Amino acid sequence: MKDFGLEIWSENNFIIDGDTININYGNKPSLLQLTQEIRDMGYRGPMIFRFPHIVKKQIASLFYEFNRARAELEYKSSFQAVFPLKVNQFPNFVNTIVDISKDFNYGLEAGSKAELIIAMSHTRMGEPITVNGFKDRDMIGLCFIAGNMGHNITIIIEGLNELKTILEISQEFRIFAPKIGVRIRLHSSGVGVWAKSGGYDSKFGLTSTELLEVYDMLKKHKLLSKLYMIHFHIGSQMSEISPMKKALREAGHIYAQLKKMGAKNLNAINLGGGLAVEYSQHIAKRDRNYSIGEFANDVVFSMSEIAKRNEVNEPEIFIESGRFVSSAHTVTVAPVLELFSQEYHEKALRLKEQNPPLVQELYELYSTMKKSTAREYLHDALDHMESLLTLFDLGYIDIVDRSNSEILADLIIKKATSLLENEHIQELREIQNKVQERYLVNFSIFQSIPDFWGLGQHFPIVPLSHLSKKPTRSATIWDITCDSDGEIGYNKELPLNLHDIDLDNEDYYLGFFLTGAYQEVLGMKHNLFTHPTEVIVKFDENGQYIFEDIIEAQNLVDLLDDLDYDTSYIDKSLKHKIEEISTLTSREKDELLGKLYLYLSENSYLKSY
Ligand SMILES: *Cc1c(COP(=O)(O)O)cnc(C)c1O
Repeated sequence: MKDFGLEIWSENNFIIDGDTININYGNKPSLLQLTQEIRDMGYRGPMIFRFPHIVKKQIASLFYEFNRARAELEYKSSFQAVFPLKVNQFPNFVNTIVDISKDFNYGLEAGSKAELIIAMSHTRMGEPITVNGFKDRDMIGLCFIAGNMGHNITIIIEGLNELKTILEISQEFRIFAPKIGVRIRLHSSGVGVWAKSGGYDSKFGLTSTELLEVYDMLKKHKLLSKLYMIHFHIGSQMSEISPMKKALREAGHIYAQLKKMGAKNLNAINLGGGLAVEYSQHIAKRDRNYSIGEFANDVVFSMSEIAKRNEVNEPEIFIESGRFVSSAHTVTVAPVLELFSQEYHEKALRLKEQNPPLVQELYELYSTMKKSTAREYLHDALDHMESLLTLFDLGYIDIVDRSNSEILADLIIKKATSLLENEHIQELREIQNKVQERYLVNFSIFQSIPDFWGLGQHFPIVPLSHLSKKPTRSATIWDITCDSDGEIGYNKELPLNLHDIDLDNEDYYLGFFLTGAYQEVLGMKHNLFTHPTEVIVKFDENGQYIFEDIIEAQNLVDLLDDLDYDTSYIDKSLKHKIEEISTLTSREKDELLGKLYLYLSENSYLKSY
């Protein structure tokens, strides 16, 4: 894996410069430098860095590509986009996206009441708001309030009952302000792990029969003029473009037919989300087979063909891409706490005057190994190790001998891998597969990359330093939860190799990339590890970075309060238990209490690192 696959997934947002991975923007600071500076301010545990310039780049490229395709095909209707809030509702992100998208008339999409409140309060007048998902009377009422405020809002109905509720609620308002969209149930569906949103068994959308009923109902209530949008969403992370093309044709025909039947203001087709992100670090396994340019061409072309063939206006093209817009803007950085074989140093050996012959032999293999003998000695060493473990079980060697053999075997593996590192031999790969280094990392997989736990979704992992050296240890990553699922195991098909580090002498951090979509709000508080400390990294006109809006991970008391613990009871109980310690003076008790309060004001992550 050359350069940790940077050229595959990073879209030039990051570059490797000497030893470090740097932000390819402004003065190109290294992530290591940012991390050290934040830690110098006293923050510990994992960190989320947000880069607004990357969000802006994604939005700009979306608009650029669609407008380019429109210009090339002389497409007359507009291109519009909204950000689906379910993908990231954190205020530091939402404020960022609202701020940087001023020039694009870019809006927000809401799928729940709380998200709708964010959209109503944060969207500027005129910017589109779309509302999806299942809705009750209150949610529809909120849409009417938004419309009355003057918001450009479209309620996308998922079923006939929603339309009935809309008709009822509309009686309470003087003007029928929102526009209406219909989510259609497509025959076509996406591919990949998130493809369940499309297709006939999908959870969402109206069948053609229901669509006709909606049409009749709107007509009967003289509200056909409110019907503005056809919506579909074939699932997230579409790995291929062909299902989208099929879905576009299907939706396009529905649009054209309804329009011909008399839905004059039906003017938009909303393709939902689904634009994929390349998460792969390995050429052999790409996640996406199209570019954004190709995607835009295909969408605009399909729409223009359908309009031509049916002699109707070209529809406005709406998109609700979330993953594409937000995933790259976040990097989660976490410190490595321990390498499990780190204690295996030559100085840890406790060799005796007289060692068991196999231990002696291991020692000789280790001392005399050369490049030409590395493979053979390595094999011998692994065999000896097996035998030594059996001898231990049978009581022939003692724990000191066993420890010596473990250390020697590990030293031999390390020496052999470094001697053979430039040879691409199958052998070496197999050895690496067998003997992995375990990196204990100060973060929670459940909190920071829940899609890895839930769906096996890979996220690019790159160490922040040592990048001019070849990483030689095949790595398994362990998080600090007490759950055996909190592990990213070594996969020999898609290997991750990291460096051999002496953590007593230096820090080693891992960057988890593309974590800005879905991961933050899906993150679970398993073992009560919370959303990490986060910071926005902006760049001034000189290209110098500036930290803004640091939000520290929740402290222990607030976290327990969130779970509805009675924190004053916790406080009283702890205090009481300290007061009752009969062996301490009152001064000593005060000191103990002081220490306790200090700990309570910290977050759950391991503090010393
Ligand atoms: C989830 C969702 C999106 C966003 O999908 P991405 O794959 O993240 O782009 C857009 N629209 C609707 C209706 C959704 O449910």
